[in-house]
Amino acid sequence: MKRFALAGNPNSGKTTLFNSLTGSTAHVGNWPGVTVDKKEGLYKKLEEDINIIDLPGIYSLSPYTSEEVISRNYILDEKPDCVINIVDVTNLERNLYLTTQLMEIDVPIIIALNMMDVLRKSGKELDAKKLEEELGVPVVEISALKEENLDELMLRAYSTSLTPRKGSSLLENSQLSHLVHDVEIAFKGMKVDNALFHAVKIIEKDEIEEKNHPDLINIVNEFKETFTDNIFGNDLEAIVADARYKYITSNFSKVVTKLGNEEEEKFEFTPSDKIDKVLTNKWAGIPIFLAILFLVFHFTFSENLFYLGGLFANVAPSFEGTMFEGLLWTDGGLNSIGVILFNLMDIITSFLGGLIGELISGAPMWIQSFVNDGALAGVFGVLSFVPQILLLFLFFSILEDSGYMARVAFILDKLFRRFGLSGRAFMPMIMGFGCSVPAIVNTRTLADENEKTATIRVIPFFSCGAKLPILTAIAGAIVTISNISNPDIITYSMYVLGMVTAIVTVILMRNTTMKGDVPPFIMELPNYHLPQFKSLMIHLWDKLKHYIEKAFTIILASTIIIWFLSSFSWGYEFLPSVIMYEGEEIIVNLRMNESILAGLGNLFAPIFAPLGFGSNLNDYVWIFAVAAVTGLIAKENVIATFGTLAACVGGLYIATEEGVLEVAAMISATEITVPALISFIAFNMTTIPCFAAVATAKGELTKKKFRGTLTFWLVTSYVVSMMIYSIGTVWWTAFIFIALAIISIFCIRYFNKRKSLTNK
Ligand code: GDP
Ligand code: MG
Repeated sequence: MKRFALAGNPNSGKTTLFNSLTGSTAHVGNWPGVTVDKKEGLYKKLEEDINIIDLPGIYSLSPYTSEEVISRNYILDEKPDCVINIVDVTNLERNLYLTTQLMEIDVPIIIALNMMDVLRKSGKELDAKKLEEELGVPVVEISALKEENLDELMLRAYSTSLTPRKGSSLLENSQLSHLVHDVEIAFKGMKVDNALFHAVKIIEKDEIEEKNHPDLINIVNEFKETFTDNIFGNDLEAIVADARYKYITSNFSKVVTKLGNEEEEKFEFTPSDKIDKVLTNKWAGIPIFLAILFLVFHFTFSENLFYLGGLFANVAPSFEGTMFEGLLWTDGGLNSIGVILFNLMDIITSFLGGLIGELISGAPMWIQSFVNDGALAGVFGVLSFVPQILLLFLFFSILEDSGYMARVAFILDKLFRRFGLSGRAFMPMIMGFGCSVPAIVNTRTLADENEKTATIRVIPFFSCGAKLPILTAIAGAIVTISNISNPDIITYSMYVLGMVTAIVTVILMRNTTMKGDVPPFIMELPNYHLPQFKSLMIHLWDKLKHYIEKAFTIILASTIIIWFLSSFSWGYEFLPSVIMYEGEEIIVNLRMNESILAGLGNLFAPIFAPLGFGSNLNDYVWIFAVAAVTGLIAKENVIATFGTLAACVGGLYIATEEGVLEVAAMISATEITVPALISFIAFNMTTIPCFAAVATAKGELTKKKFRGTLTFWLVTSYVVSMMIYSIGTVWWTAFIFIALAIISIFCIRYFNKRKSLTNK
């Protein structure tokens, strides 16, 4: 099957084009060895099906980032039948920089000039003929979003793919032409494919090239000795880059022209600029960001979105006693979308659980217990959170797709700089809200090694989707045992706490063990776009699939182990028994404290005593230790563990009596206090992340830094939780912590000063 690869700058519209071309046939995986999305899909409108590959977005083919290496290797090694180079016409010159490099490879190329709708709307037009003549490859004007001209693009791509193309370089007409020619011949002599491309790269002092062909560096170096340019001396890399830009400006700066008369040329604010005046305002920017974040949480978690008042009194009675009671409102307040979805999911899983329980009601007791409490309870407990996770993810995707997140990076750059980070570090942090794994991979874009390490360490503090059930379930438990009425305040504060912890620890690291310069951060703000419904749904679907896969593999396996360990004693006695409850036989495990799991948990429990959820509680205390440890496998396990244990102990029976959720019932059975619960959330949020994230971090860091990172996570989580528990229980201990903080600041300052003096 023919393969066409989409290559272009980030935000040029690759994914939009990809989705339009392939519809729902897309297959998403990871590039071999790295977790950067690999998307493949079929285009079916031609005489034969075409496999379309969405390459990662890149600005050049030099190996500065993993995206660049992936895209470059794909084109060089896998030799697609055609490269469709997407060019964002609203940023023509920057986009053509990549084009000049792609042209050097021996591969058929077609240029898709994207965002033509935007260009036309702003009253400009473009001379595509001129581009085509100068570049010598076909050029098609499209709009990926409006799906304009895509058939034409694919038809011409197809005919382009039928004839091989020889690479060409603008350097062939420059002062470097002889050098390019000599190195190219040397490569050809070694029977290397794409000799021209490799020749240019080695002249550009490309790392990969120099490593693979050290014997050819000499030709370049000999040339350098005899050569000087009057601006750049013999810095060949700069000379090549300059040649590319000169070529682009001299040939293409007049390709885009304004329609109409001269007067319109006056500088005008676009709508985007007007919005930016407010959203990126020096003072209002950060408060607006925090407020938007709060709204997102309010819509996802609040049980009191609006107070219904009289309406509630009129409508509520008609739902009394039906399963809708409590679905839409709580205590006279309308539930948020997230809570309604959560309740709905709960109704569905309870129904399914009941049905399955009914089916196996004749089976031996241990089978019933295994299926209901071992296999189902934990997985269902986790699945009920899927709607809320997806909703939160949807809100974040909207903020990102619209171009707002890029603005936040821009606003935060100034603030970050003071802490010793660049705004660039913000992207991986925000990605951390989704999942730490891709976020950690994304830190490769950070040039300073110490900045990268510090960023990797704080990424888990940006609470990921899998930690969300911990937040929600425990916030729910707090609401049932205290007089705090709205769980969304707790969830929001915990997210903010994570961010604050990140900022404080980054400052600490950048002033002590992880010092370094902050490289300049240059970023172009994309125009605001209306997010695209289709691509949002595709994002969500990927996320949903991933989550369900995880629930039925790693989480299911973990909960079965938990069930087993909590149902058997050290002497292999099966602990659950049958009791009568309201005329029905139910299986409960009232002797769980004698189980293997309790024994193991009690080993760890003393460690957590200073954090409030250790051996200072009653006999059930071990469940927190167990939950925290299972969380190291996958963070969903924390709540799955509570769910399983609650079901085993007959949580339903406790729950119905109290009218609260099982997990909340289980938690309150331990007689834990509110500050200790908050400390428990904080511990799980800031401690060693899940197994997958740890493995990814290991791949990105040196051995020594990796070990330091594990220690960092343990220490941070312990200290933060202890502070919360201590201040929450005895408020004036806050002064002790403040005093300690001031002393540390002075010590650090003193040592840094002494060091800089001795260095001089
Ligand atoms: P990628 O980073 O190259 O994958 O770019 P995306 O496909 O994510 O597109 C970036 C943004 O540009 C999205 O918000 C798209 O909706 C928008 N976009 C893409 N193509 C067009 C187009 O032809 N016209 C307009 N107006 N917007 C577009
Ligand atoms: Mg994309």
